[in-house]
Amino acid sequence: MKVATGKSILDGIAIGPLRFYHKVDTEIVMASKLTPAEELSRFATAQGKAQEQLGTLYEKALEEVGEDNAAIFEIHQMMVEDDDYVEAIQSIIETQGATAEYAVFTTGDNFAATFAAMDDAYMKARAVDVKDISRRLVNILTGVVEGNLLGDQPVILVADDLTPSETVQMDKSKLLGFVTRKGSTNSHTAILARTMNIPALIGVEIDEAWDGKPGIIDGYNHCVYVEPTADLAGSMQKKHNEDLQQRALLQGLKGKENVTLDGRHVNLYANIGNVGDVGLVLQNDASGIGLFRSEFIYLNAQSYPTEDEQFAIYKQVAETMGGRKVIIRTLDIGADKQADYFQLEKEENPALGFRAIRICLTRKEIFKTQLRAILRASAYGKVSIMFPMIISVREVRDAKDILAECRKELASEGVAMGEVEIGIMIETPAAVAMADELAQEVEFFSLGTNDLTQYTLAIDRQNPRLDAFYDPHHPAVLRMIRHTIEAGHRHNCWVGICGELGADPKLTETFLRMGVDELSVSPSSILPLRKIVRSLDLTKEPTVVNPPV
Ligand code: PEP
Ligand code: MG
Repeated sequence: MKVATGKSILDGIAIGPLRFYHKVDTEIVMASKLTPAEELSRFATAQGKAQEQLGTLYEKALEEVGEDNAAIFEIHQMMVEDDDYVEAIQSIIETQGATAEYAVFTTGDNFAATFAAMDDAYMKARAVDVKDISRRLVNILTGVVEGNLLGDQPVILVADDLTPSETVQMDKSKLLGFVTRKGSTNSHTAILARTMNIPALIGVEIDEAWDGKPGIIDGYNHCVYVEPTADLAGSMQKKHNEDLQQRALLQGLKGKENVTLDGRHVNLYANIGNVGDVGLVLQNDASGIGLFRSEFIYLNAQSYPTEDEQFAIYKQVAETMGGRKVIIRTLDIGADKQADYFQLEKEENPALGFRAIRICLTRKEIFKTQLRAILRASAYGKVSIMFPMIISVREVRDAKDILAECRKELASEGVAMGEVEIGIMIETPAAVAMADELAQEVEFFSLGTNDLTQYTLAIDRQNPRLDAFYDPHHPAVLRMIRHTIEAGHRHNCWVGICGELGADPKLTETFLRMGVDELSVSPSSILPLRKIVRSLDLTKEPTVVNPPV
């Protein structure tokens, strides 16, 4: 048996086979030691193999997802043989004495940039496809086998690192847990693991030899056991069963109010990343959705999701929540949440860069597509809109103006819409400082403590080396929360918390004493928080040592 330690993202136990995920990070050599004729022949062989792979994928997709969805692999087959594409590759091999992989990689990049710059939406979407086929060809030429993220059996995934888009695309029924070497506890990948209620460990010295071996993630003790002894496996299974029982006991709180012993109500809402999470929201009896991270719709797509595609998703969530509040946060892309087709430039400081509302106010068409979709969905439930990363009153007014423009357009098209509450995320120190003015512009605030902590403490939430310094209980952060709640209430603006701190049971009492109106947390935290809320009596002396706020 081997034991490796790391940092746990969720208390819990996962038991199952370990499966290695190899990410392709191939080093591509430019100068060839072969003749151009030999490189051309390598390329031709790779083309043949790519055709075979794509044919197999087409057949599989045809069976599983139908003809329309499978068609993409036929398009890829055509692109592999496309005259312009092939000629560009051949020319680089012949004129530059380059390896076939270099020629493919360079051509892929060039074509993708050209397509992305075109006005035609269809051609824009081909940028991702040309990158995809080029990656396939480069993998074949360099002998890299890119593994399926998950196989048929549920597994504990072991990887060097996982991006939010990789995580969001995983089939949750096949993912028992994951272990990565890189990553930070405050990253979006970690947040997704919590939402999915999946035990995960990061910062682990992983070893390829673990592939296929039995493993156990012990989230309580921050470690993973490889080939555990029968004794250990038995005691872990017992603990796992106790967890399940504990969860079942909490189910007894379903249908009960979120009210303290002295009668203070608080809304306990859920955070979701996609429509598939709504089942968890209902299962855990959340009174609403306090944060729908809509950017995951974009991360899950190969090109800009259309108004109709987004409308279908928002409508489904609004309808399923049956009149309970659904707060849709508008696109918060950028920093660690990247989608290739946005073609965002690399930045020195992405967390302080072109992201979220800054992209939406600059690329108005993208914003309007989303706002129109949300407004259309508002006719089917109780939908609210929340703008992220706000730093000024001007931004809120601009965003509201664009929203009003969309409403006007839809009204003139005769489209039905409901009342939509408007709110903003308070996740920058600037927004906290401006809270009194901002509160007069909107109906609610939601404190994004993940970013607020990052920006207040000047600590990159993505940098695992700083985890020890990232202290969300820092008095500066807690004072900002208190200040925001007080400012909001001065102007009739309700205030919630949707960052990870909202689920911290050590702070529930503190937040309630500060007067918070809502806590929006991962679905699995709803019932544990309800239990705490129902045990509190705010007329009594604080039962926790209040942090120095
Ligand atoms: C936050 O910053 O606290 C938040 C809820 O948004 P995200 O984690 O998606 O940046
Ligand atoms: Mg944020």
